[in-house]
Amino acid sequence: MQTRFTGSFTQQEPIDDDAIAAALAVLRTGRLHRYNLADGEAGETALLEQDFAAMTGARYCLAVASGGYAMATVLRAHGVAAGDRVLTNAFTLAPVPGAIAAAGAVPVYVEVTDQLVIDLDDLAAKIASSGARRLLLSHMRGHIADMEALMAICDAAGVAVIEDCAHTMGAAWNGVASGRHGLAACFSTQTYKHINSGEGGLIITDDADLMARTIILSGSYMLYDRHLAAPPPETFARIRLETPNCSGRMDNLRAAILRPQLRLLADRVEGWNRRYRWVEDGLRNIPGLVLIERPGAEAFVGSSIQFRLPDFGKPAMLAVQEACARRGVELKWFGADQPVGFTSRHDSWQYAPPQDMPQSDLVLAGLLDMRLPLTFSEDDCRLIAAIIADEVIAAGQRNPTKETP
Ligand SMILES: *Cc1c(COP(=O)(O)O)cnc(C)c1O
Repeated sequence: MQTRFTGSFTQQEPIDDDAIAAALAVLRTGRLHRYNLADGEAGETALLEQDFAAMTGARYCLAVASGGYAMATVLRAHGVAAGDRVLTNAFTLAPVPGAIAAAGAVPVYVEVTDQLVIDLDDLAAKIASSGARRLLLSHMRGHIADMEALMAICDAAGVAVIEDCAHTMGAAWNGVASGRHGLAACFSTQTYKHINSGEGGLIITDDADLMARTIILSGSYMLYDRHLAAPPPETFARIRLETPNCSGRMDNLRAAILRPQLRLLADRVEGWNRRYRWVEDGLRNIPGLVLIERPGAEAFVGSSIQFRLPDFGKPAMLAVQEACARRGVELKWFGADQPVGFTSRHDSWQYAPPQDMPQSDLVLAGLLDMRLPLTFSEDDCRLIAAIIADEVIAAGQRNPTKETP
């Protein structure tokens, strides 16, 4: 009988006891709103901002309602006006173009390479052809582009870089924390990311004006003096009256369960990377299967793994995905005709003008993606890799010749 995996690809670790105790302490006070503080009390939300700023080395931090809200808010705070064009990766998740649309702007997609990072040649070309002044750079699935080269292109062209670090919390490029290359960075604390409060987002930047605007936008009711990772009050003097309140605050309950998790992040990153390497080991030297090589400069977080079957064609891709699913292994395929779950892609986002992205389409047609929750054991990882290896080999034997995608 064929081996089968019976675990869950969407089961995260439980919230640990420290975080549960911190949540209960907040609940007992009834002061869940971030600005509802007793005398002398800092509040969990302000403390979370202080902790995250310290961890990333950023001057300022703001906690908000979601990662998507964080991105839209930074775009607004940076002065995006209706109809402005904003560059972003053609391969990313729906909240990224969604944030551009939420700010009233229009996404301009940039091709991705077969290493799943933004294509720097196409970036330079799209900057020139679109006239866009902002890049919402998505470190999609934790793959980090050559950040020195990327920043050189954007700096030379006067393009502001806002980093989407939903998959790179805890990662670094050449020793610099992910999110610290651009003007600002946005993180998500949604359940499937690296720390879990159900929903939530974090914004970091060194730019005082930008942070003051994001704070007012997030709905600070002019109580910004209660923040611990905010610019000085004089920064708000003009900004406070010319910036609308678009409520999207974090609350003390979610902040309370996030702070203990931040302290565990480094250990968790190691845990993800061990799992990543176990699966990767099992997928080496399989005919037709191409792994994504991780550059030496990239300290990544292996909370998911991607691999390519570039010569398989659509029917064989589908066959691998279905055969793995029958054996309990949930692979996401970004090349299917219709989005399933989170696999929507640029041509699914029909609120934006259609754009030809032949290189990205080719990459996505052969790309499979899998989550690696920390609830998987080493045996689980090795079994999953063995099942994928079996099914890729079997499908490869049934389809020895390259099909047109
Ligand atoms: C999850 C995610 C976000 C933000 O998501 P929210 O659900 O709004 O917190 C942003 N970018 C990417 C690539 C993501 O996967």
